[in-house]
Amino acid sequence: MKACPECYGSDNRATPILNKKACLSEHMQYICGTCGRCICIAKDSKRNLARWNFPFKSLEIAKLYLRAADFSEKHNCGIYEIISQTGRKSYKIFPTKRDFMNYLEKNNKQSSSMAALFQEETYLVFPNTEVRKLTKDEIVKYLQS
Ligand SMILES: [Zn+2]
Ligand SMILES: [Zn+2]
Repeated sequence: MKACPECYGSDNRATPILNKKACLSEHMQYICGTCGRCICIAKDSKRNLARWNFPFKSLEIAKLYLRAADFSEKHNCGIYEIISQTGRKSYKIFPTKRDFMNYLEKNNKQSSSMAALFQEETYLVFPNTEVRKLTKDEIVKYLQS
């Protein structure tokens, strides 16, 4: 399936990944104006971090959250590879390459690539985007389809 030009997903119900119902009912969602996919965009109140700030197991999953990062930062963010000291790979979104480099240094982590593995060329604004909590009916529909 072709990737959505707005949210980079190829399945319009692929997110949330974990605890779908709780995420959709409790968290603010980025609702893709092009395909209708919902991406958790809420920041956790304690640490001020959103889901997209955390490392992902795969590049594919990171891509599913990238639009929430782009929209929050109003900037085309990049997905970078991170290798832990034990050699485990993960994928994390950073607004800029400098943020990525700082993270590697601070956390004593490595990467086999200093370039983003995925990043849009520019930040685009789409006309039908909504950022809000879903209604009960919308949640039911979203989970059924
Ligand atoms: Zn959520
Ligand atoms: Zn979309």
